[in-house]
Amino acid sequence: MEDNLQGVLKGQKIAYFSMEIGLRNEIPTYAGGLGVLAGDTIRSASDLKVPLVAVTLVSNKGYFRQSLDTSGNQTEQIEEWDPSRLMTRLQQEVSVKIQGREVKIQAWQYNCKSLTGGCVPIIFLDTNVEGNSWEDRRITDFLYGGDHSYRLKQEIVLGVGGVRMLAALGFNPRKYHMNEGHSSLLALELLTRNGTDSTKVKDLCIFTTHTPVEAGHDKFDYGLVEDLIRDKNYLEILKKFGGADRFDTSLFALNLSNYVNGVTKRHSRVSNELFPGYSIQAITNGVHSYTWTSPFFRQLYDRYLPGWANEPELLVRVGGIPDEEIWEAHWKAKKELIDEVNKRTGVCMDYETLTIGFARRMAEYKRATLILSDLERLRKVNRRGRIQLIFAGKAHPQDEAGKQLIREIFKIIETLRNEIKIVFLENYDMDLAAKMVSGVDLWLNTPTRPYEASGTSGMKAAHNGVVNFSILDGWWIEGWIEGVTGWSIGPQPDDCLSIEEARLSELDDLYNKLYYIIVPMYYDRKDEWFKMINNSIGMVAYYFNSHRMMRRYVTHAYL
Ligand SMILES: *Cc1c(COP(=O)(O)O)cnc(C)c1O
Repeated sequence: MEDNLQGVLKGQKIAYFSMEIGLRNEIPTYAGGLGVLAGDTIRSASDLKVPLVAVTLVSNKGYFRQSLDTSGNQTEQIEEWDPSRLMTRLQQEVSVKIQGREVKIQAWQYNCKSLTGGCVPIIFLDTNVEGNSWEDRRITDFLYGGDHSYRLKQEIVLGVGGVRMLAALGFNPRKYHMNEGHSSLLALELLTRNGTDSTKVKDLCIFTTHTPVEAGHDKFDYGLVEDLIRDKNYLEILKKFGGADRFDTSLFALNLSNYVNGVTKRHSRVSNELFPGYSIQAITNGVHSYTWTSPFFRQLYDRYLPGWANEPELLVRVGGIPDEEIWEAHWKAKKELIDEVNKRTGVCMDYETLTIGFARRMAEYKRATLILSDLERLRKVNRRGRIQLIFAGKAHPQDEAGKQLIREIFKIIETLRNEIKIVFLENYDMDLAAKMVSGVDLWLNTPTRPYEASGTSGMKAAHNGVVNFSILDGWWIEGWIEGVTGWSIGPQPDDCLSIEEARLSELDDLYNKLYYIIVPMYYDRKDEWFKMINNSIGMVAYYFNSHRMMRRYVTHAYL
C-alpha cells in the first residue's frame, strides 16, 4: 500500500525545501519557529490537497535536548532518534561531490496524511550510508551543529542532493520553494540541469526569506566554498549569482527566483531595503489551526463551528459560543499547564492567578528578560493583582549571550522566590509549546525591532483565547488593534527611535499597561476580558493560520 501511495504522490508538483521541519515531537528535526512553520505549511498543504513534496535533512542526532542546573546553566544532550521506527527507507541512492569525494545519500519517506484524504510526502536525506567515509556519514547528524564547513556540506546535500533525489524518485516538480536560504544550492543543480539558463531556473524557483538583518544571512568565504566544491564551472556560477566577495546564500536565491517573499508586511519592507533593486512580496505567516488548538477548544469549535479545522475563517463566528463554555475550555487548558508546572518544579502555582507566558528560542534579540528588568515596577504590578510567570526556551549551543539570558532569569527567580512565582521549564519543544500557548492567560513577546521577521507563537496563543501583549514587530503589527485584539508594548510601528529610547518607552508600556489595564481587567472586569478572548479567536486566529497562508502561496507563488 505504501508503494501504491508513493506512485500516486509522484504527481506532486511543488517541491518544498527546508533545513528544519517540525512535524511532531518524536521527530526532533527542528530548532524553532522556522521549522515549526515548515511543519505547519506541510500540514496545511496536506489538508488542502496541494500537490507538495517536502525535502529536508534527517538530522539523526536532532537539535539537542536541554538540561538546566539549579543556576540555569544549560547543557546539551544529543537527541538521537531512529528514523526506521517512523519512516520508510527508500531504495534510491544519489550522490554529491564534496572535496572531490562522492558522498552517497539515501532517503527516508514520511507521509503527512490528512483526514481530508490529502497527503504530503517528506523526503529526509541521510548521508549515514555504507561506503561513505566516517566524516561524511556525520553530515546529516546535527541540525545547526558544527562549523561553517559542516553547514556548507549540509547545504550541498540538501540543495544539490535534494534535487537529485527527487529526480531519482521520479518526481518532476514544476516549482522549487526554498524556505530560507539554506537550500539555495538547489538552484545550482537546476542551472546545470537546464543548460545554465537562468531564465528557466528563475521560473522554477520561489524564495521565502525569514531574516530581517544583514548578519542573519548565511555567507561563506570562497576559500571554503572552493575547498568543498572543486569545480570551476560551479564556482563561476556561484560567484555570478551569489556575490563576488563571499557566497551569500540569500543573494543566490534572490537572483535565481522569480517570486521572492518576506513573512510579514513589515518584514518584506525591511527586506526590500536590505536588498535594493529586488522586488520582495509579502505573505504573512500563519499557524496550523488544528495542531495548535488545545483539545478543549477543538471540541468546542467542533460543536459550534463544524468544519473550522479546514476552514479556519469560521472562527470569525466565535461570538456564537457562550462565554462560560469558552472560559471552561480555557480553564481546563490552564489547569493542565499549571499541573505540569507544579509537577516539574514543585513551585505550587495556582489556577486563579493571572499567568503570563514567554517561550521561544533564547536568542538575544528576543529579550526574554525585558519584563524582569525593573523588579520594583514588577512588584508593584504584583501588588495590584497577583501574577505568575512561565518561561521556556533553548539557547543555541554556541550562543553564549542566549545562555546568559537563562542564567539571569534563574537569578531573578531566586530573588523573587517569596514574592512572585516564576518558573523556567526545561527543554522547550512542540509538546511543551502546545501546552504553554494554550494554558497561560497572557502571551508576552518583547523582541528588539525589527529583528522579529514574523513570530508565530502569538498566533498559536490566539487560537486558544490567550491574549497577546507584544512589541509592535513582525506579525503583531498586522494583528494588533489596541485594547481590542490585545495590547502593544512601546513605539508605534512607524516611530523611529534609537534602541535605547525605544527601550524606555517599552518598559513604561510594559509595566503601566500591566498595572493600569491588564491586571485590573483580568481580576475586576471579566466581561471585558471575555471580549479580549473572543477577539483573539475571532479577529486574530481566523486570519493568522497556515490555511490562509498556503492559499496565498498557491495563488501568488505556485500558480
Ligand atoms: C511556535 C514555536 C516557536 C516560534 O516561537 P516564536 O515566538 O514565534 O519565536 C519556537 N519553538 C517552538 C517549539 C514552537 O512551537
